[in-house]
Amino acid sequence: MVKKVLIANRGEIALRVLRACKELGIATVAVHSTADNAAMHVRLADESVCIGPPPSRDSYLNIPSILAACEISGADAVHPGYGFLSENARFAEILDAHEITFIGPTAEHIRLMGDKIEAKRTAQRLGIPVVPGSAGAVTDDAEALAVADDIGFPVLVKASAGGGGRGMKVAKTRDDLSLALQTARQEAGAAFGDDAVYIEKYLEKPRHIEVQVFGDGAGNAIHLGERDCSLQRRHQKVWEEANSPALTPEQRAKIGDVCANAMAQMRYRGAGTIEFLYENGEFYFIEMNTRLQVEHPVTEAITGLDLVHEQIRVASAEGLSVTQDQVKFTGHAIECRINAEDARTFAPSPGKISYYHAPGGLGVRVDSGVYQGYSIPPFYDSLIGKLIVHGRDRVDCMRRLRRALDEIVVDGVKTTLPLFRDLVDNPDIAAGAYDIHWLEKYLAASA
Ligand code: ADP
Repeated sequence: MVKKVLIANRGEIALRVLRACKELGIATVAVHSTADNAAMHVRLADESVCIGPPPSRDSYLNIPSILAACEISGADAVHPGYGFLSENARFAEILDAHEITFIGPTAEHIRLMGDKIEAKRTAQRLGIPVVPGSAGAVTDDAEALAVADDIGFPVLVKASAGGGGRGMKVAKTRDDLSLALQTARQEAGAAFGDDAVYIEKYLEKPRHIEVQVFGDGAGNAIHLGERDCSLQRRHQKVWEEANSPALTPEQRAKIGDVCANAMAQMRYRGAGTIEFLYENGEFYFIEMNTRLQVEHPVTEAITGLDLVHEQIRVASAEGLSVTQDQVKFTGHAIECRINAEDARTFAPSPGKISYYHAPGGLGVRVDSGVYQGYSIPPFYDSLIGKLIVHGRDRVDCMRRLRRALDEIVVDGVKTTLPLFRDLVDNPDIAAGAYDIHWLEKYLAASA
């Protein structure tokens, strides 16, 4: 087993990883920017190293500084969390070259899946159903029109290097296509330094359903069921649940097996998420994330497995702790992403937390690095915590969520908590009847 893990991240996920390491008796090294001197993961780690000034590119994205911190501390492994360097194939290669274990997939698999055109090709080859669209990158209008006429409008122009919901343009008709192609290419070039785009059928009322997979790198792979992440704003997830209210156990087993078989064929190593849009009973692959996801705790709640423990086991070549037959799904779990943002305008609200009270009780988990008196720095993502509740079934889970939302207090900054207090009482949400557009429509209607 690895002995000392450097956690190349911040915020709630750094703390999440630290907790798993402590439970496994593994020493921890926190790295942090000068803005995060007082962060909880820094306070709780066995050692900490300051790696630079507040801007991410000078600290959390600075590979030489992180490597130096590994050398200084003698860490033999790095957990990248999500975001930052977690899907940077070059980082994984550099660590390999220094004989430091990257707790994640091989650089080759990160690179393959990071290119969405290649990822889709690979998925198709491995028997995963994909969204109809162009066979590869599309560069000129005539080619785009031919593809779009073939699959039918509306279509979506997407950046091959895309992420975080950026670089996507809808074309409703033939007249919109040229402009959509041009703006998507420009945006992709500016945001990702790669202007390759491709075309997909734009699905009008899908759910976002993703399958959690795990491979041991030696040809064994399992799935841990799905998460429904359809409640989104600007293609960003807001609320996630497991299992999906839309799937039957048979559908779950079927798509889960397709994904696990594909990962076994690839000899995939570590945690991965295969994202689908789901409409009219059909699954359509959109992308694969080769890392731990923000919403992984809902899967942990219903399976009882610690996904970071599994990641560390696999990275240490100890294999997975369970076989597919041993994975059982119990009850229902929901996660709310608590952002330091205005619940209506979503404008960021950094600053000092004047009062903080975390909810508790059976089936309630809070993953957060904040505490009373903590100042949320303005430099990073606005996610300050996640509230995860588990119940015997979805009705029980919703009741518990309502109760936990009543208990939690975060004063001094604005948060998205009021939104969740509204959602938990909404009849559509209670019925599980929502698609990827539901939340934006709801927000527009209640503005
Ligand atoms: P990113 O990597 O930027 O998150 P994804 O490909 O995962 O991009 O898509 C993010 C979200 O965008 C999806 O959850 C969905 O809401 C929407 N989306 C993506 N592809 C399509 C599509 N073909 N039709 C409709 N909506 C889509």
